[in-house]
Amino acid sequence: MSVTDRCDFRCVYCMAEEMTFLPKSSVLTLEELAHIGSTFVELGVRKIRLTGGEPLVRRGVMGLVTQLGRLEGLEELTMTTNGSQLVKLAQPLRAAGLSRLNISLDSLNAQRFRELTRTGDLDQVLRGIDAAKAAGFSSIKLNAVVLKGRNEDEVLDLVRYVLARELDLSFIEEMPLGAITEHDRASAFVSSESIRQIITSEYPLQPMLAQTALGGPSRYWQTPGHKSKIGFISPHSENFCATCNRVRLTVEGRLLLCLGNEHSVDLREIVRKYPNDRVALKAAIVASMDVKPERHHFDLDEEPQIVRFMNMTGG
Ligand code: SAM
Ligand code: SF4
Repeated sequence: MSVTDRCDFRCVYCMAEEMTFLPKSSVLTLEELAHIGSTFVELGVRKIRLTGGEPLVRRGVMGLVTQLGRLEGLEELTMTTNGSQLVKLAQPLRAAGLSRLNISLDSLNAQRFRELTRTGDLDQVLRGIDAAKAAGFSSIKLNAVVLKGRNEDEVLDLVRYVLARELDLSFIEEMPLGAITEHDRASAFVSSESIRQIITSEYPLQPMLAQTALGGPSRYWQTPGHKSKIGFISPHSENFCATCNRVRLTVEGRLLLCLGNEHSVDLREIVRKYPNDRVALKAAIVASMDVKPERHHFDLDEEPQIVRFMNMTGG
């Protein structure tokens, strides 16, 4: 569930430098988000991830976390965040019922971090990661988008950083969501396989078994003697569609059945027409599963076919 399209960062692969954000009237209220979330759980969904934009810049998000955290039947409530607010919010989030955290970190070099995020402060995020570790989340995973010529040379540093702290790490191939001018996505592309080659120059990697049962896009590996899981999200090179069991709710209430396709169902229209009624909402959610596409088709050599930016999609 995306809880906002806004963000305090402007990462080069995610947003344009000048962004126009959604008007308040088209954004789901916190009550509508809670209503939709709890309806999914009544239908049997066991895991919800809150994302954005930056979920922690939405005023009142802690109340939403608390409400969702209490839902019976929800086994995992997680969040993907850029980490900028975690020094003060990690502990309250844990107390409110969030079980796991994903924190984005593309570079351990302060100047480069600033260039990639355009506004971010590395030290603040690193202190946020320490605060998350101290708060006792059941798992913390870092996400790194790797771009040729920008942070490809930091793959081993990032691996060392997570191994030393017993965190997990996923490397993500950049996806062509929204038109950006800052770099050419095709020439910045780094495949998961080439990242694995960099890692194995220092750390042997063994694929973890039974991971397809998780249904997520990451494929995990481990290096002997360490607890950390090293994952690869490879929408281009190692298509994960066959096991994908995810759907995404944009903050406008569009239920996207696939990150790389436009198939969607407008849930905002339903919750605004029948505010206290779950019958129509449940019927729409169940029917939407029939239009979940079989796979996505990303082509870096063509103009992006998906005009939504990642901050609109909910990564
Ligand atoms: N603001 C939060 C954050 O950065 O973690 C949550 C939202 S962000 C859109 C979620 C994830 O999507 C981040 O890990 C980010 O690196 C990733 N992301 C954004 N744009 C992307 C793109 N074009 N291709 C691949 N990953 C992308
Ligand atoms: Fe913001 Fe996350 Fe997008 Fe970066 S990746 S601009 S932190 S929403």
